[in-house]
Amino acid sequence: MSLLDVRNLQTHFRTRGGVNRAVEGVSFHVDAGETLAIVGESGCGKSVTSMSIMRLLPENAARSAGEILLNGRNLLDLSEAQMRDVRGNEIGMIFQEPMTSLNPVLTVGAQVKETVALHQSIPSADVHDRALRMLELVGIPDAARRMTEYPHQLSGGMRQRIMIALALVCQPKLLIADEPTTALDVTIQAQILELLRDIQREQGTSIILITHDLGVVAEATDRTVVMYAGRKIEEAPTATLLAAPRHPYTQGLLAAVPRLGGDGSGRLAEIPGQVPDMRKPMTGCAFANRCAQATDFCRAHAPALERKAPGHIAACHLAEPEILA
Ligand code: SF4
Repeated sequence: MSLLDVRNLQTHFRTRGGVNRAVEGVSFHVDAGETLAIVGESGCGKSVTSMSIMRLLPENAARSAGEILLNGRNLLDLSEAQMRDVRGNEIGMIFQEPMTSLNPVLTVGAQVKETVALHQSIPSADVHDRALRMLELVGIPDAARRMTEYPHQLSGGMRQRIMIALALVCQPKLLIADEPTTALDVTIQAQILELLRDIQREQGTSIILITHDLGVVAEATDRTVVMYAGRKIEEAPTATLLAAPRHPYTQGLLAAVPRLGGDGSGRLAEIPGQVPDMRKPMTGCAFANRCAQATDFCRAHAPALERKAPGHIAACHLAEPEILA
């Protein structure tokens, strides 16, 4: 059984212009100790997927349906009190910009200790030690002194390490990292990715890494899900996906990065055209208005996700299955 099994997730929002189907029928799983990438341009539904798993959706969420099975238990069936327990204890989360998630008027030590005290039944005398050990584990130099400092006194890289400490101090089985290195310079990015890998090795944590950065995907993940217009359109082991993408959208993303890793950026460049308006009913392939290979058949019939090679699925009428010898 997978650690996390997301089945047919649908998350819709009420907006002035109608219902926005931000996530529409997405399924994927994460195994123990595995790192799964979820990639796509902004607005493709990847962050909404992670906030759906955490059940941290804004008030205008009109629908969150499907199943989100964590160790076989459907998170969508839990009470808010049970969910508070899951957040922190079973799933940790780190965000792109730690300043918006850290409390500016509390020292970082107080924040880590508060998290430990809230989620762990350990003697209060041990709370400080647990918090200190965690800061040391995430590579905060002179951690005892840093515990007395406020977030604004730390660099961006140090703040992100504090966020990782907060997310992992209760040893969750699953860590969701939403663009965790985007706001950091390339050297610090590499250090944070290395830190996540080390912690994964030591604690066996599974990680969902949400990113638009193919350099990060190549370096840090086992398997990749590509999302477009709220749908999963391709999934494969990361090495396979980067070497032989089957969906024209994924091919476009990769073609837009001519020297992956070579120029140090590895960022996804723009693909010409617009993501379709997800408040309008969609007929046919969601990518058809941007796809150079689109046919009338594509515009009339939505492609289903189909197996194209072992472990490799894609939703495209023109992606032929690999012929196995
Ligand atoms: Fe392009 Fe057609 Fe494939 Fe959609 S189904 S990605 S429009 S070729």
